[in-house]
Amino acid sequence: MEHPENSAEFEGLMVNSGVGPVSIVNPYLKRGRYSRHKLTAGDYVEGILKGNVSVLGQAVTLVESTNPDHQTIAQEVIEKSLPYSGKSVRVGISGVPGAGKSTSIDEFGIHVLKEYGGRLAVLAIDPSSERSKGSILGDKTRMEKLSVHPDSFIRPSPSAGSLGGVARKTRETIILCEAAGFDKIFVETVGVGQSETACHSMVDFFLLIQLAGTGDELQGIKRGIMEMADGIVINKCDGSNVEKSQLAATHFRNALQLFPMPESGWQPKVLTYSGFYGLGIKEIWDMIYEYIDFVKKNGYFEFRRAEQSKYWMYESINEQLRNNFYQNPTIADLLQAAEKSVLEGQRSSFVAAKQLLDSYFALLH
Ligand code: GDP
Repeated sequence: MEHPENSAEFEGLMVNSGVGPVSIVNPYLKRGRYSRHKLTAGDYVEGILKGNVSVLGQAVTLVESTNPDHQTIAQEVIEKSLPYSGKSVRVGISGVPGAGKSTSIDEFGIHVLKEYGGRLAVLAIDPSSERSKGSILGDKTRMEKLSVHPDSFIRPSPSAGSLGGVARKTRETIILCEAAGFDKIFVETVGVGQSETACHSMVDFFLLIQLAGTGDELQGIKRGIMEMADGIVINKCDGSNVEKSQLAATHFRNALQLFPMPESGWQPKVLTYSGFYGLGIKEIWDMIYEYIDFVKKNGYFEFRRAEQSKYWMYESINEQLRNNFYQNPTIADLLQAAEKSVLEGQRSSFVAAKQLLDSYFALLH
């Protein structure tokens, strides 16, 4: 089948609008005999450890809930699942909308399940996503093959909120998925802004999907994002685009040479592939597994995971302190008044902030 982007009328390879967030239409995720409101934290953990995806899905819903009662159970479930987690390969996959993430993840997922067996969970971090209310079947399926695979679990991004909040929930979901026996985790993220940093802070390998463009593709991509990548892959290397993609790969390789050697000791690689035609997929996964072997041998794998745990401890503290401050009713009133006085130039921002914090600390005593 010929891809429409390869027709003569198609003007260059541009970034398409892509499609919406991932949805679950996995027929294997039928509601089991467990009913949500009757489950205790112990029941959740038992179901998760048995690898029951229905219970796992419900537990993830609790993790995502803002209801304090749900959160209490969720935290207990996470705590109890923690000893059974960690035994997976976590891969972050990033790229701008239209880069071909869903097409690629579908192919990647089918490839790794076929070649390496096991179970695959596909999670996402997209702070802008709003899940269609109530209906998980509402969205267009983005991963046609994976969504009906018996060994896959696809979960859309937790719905819109602060990036830190959304990312923390994804990080907690990884723990539950691993405890449920998912030994391969993909974390997809949209290639804009800070979400890459959050994704990078919870994966073992960060894969950046790029497109060959008009030759200036290197200018559009932030240095920080390139520095995070353990591998860069140029998608849509098919049809009349093969040469351009190879040229882009050379540009990326040259650019990466200018960066200092990453802490892992691994020189990031640049490959070309076609997600749509399924070309070059094996090479990408050979690279990822080669990396995992490499960093397991030199100790960086464990080091990176430990650093990530530390990072998430501080992130959780920051987030909870912030929430506690802003959700305090007295502070909320004082904030309004302070904002007004700052806007009217009666108080400096710093004095206003100090007064608010002093009031907050006084409330805690
Ligand atoms: P996402 O927004 O990053 O998830 O991108 P999608 O996977 O939805 O792909 C966006 C568009 O690019 C769709 O029209 C895909 O068919 C097309 N596309 C994806 N992969 C390839 C590829 O390997 N070659 C070509 N020619 N087009 C592709």
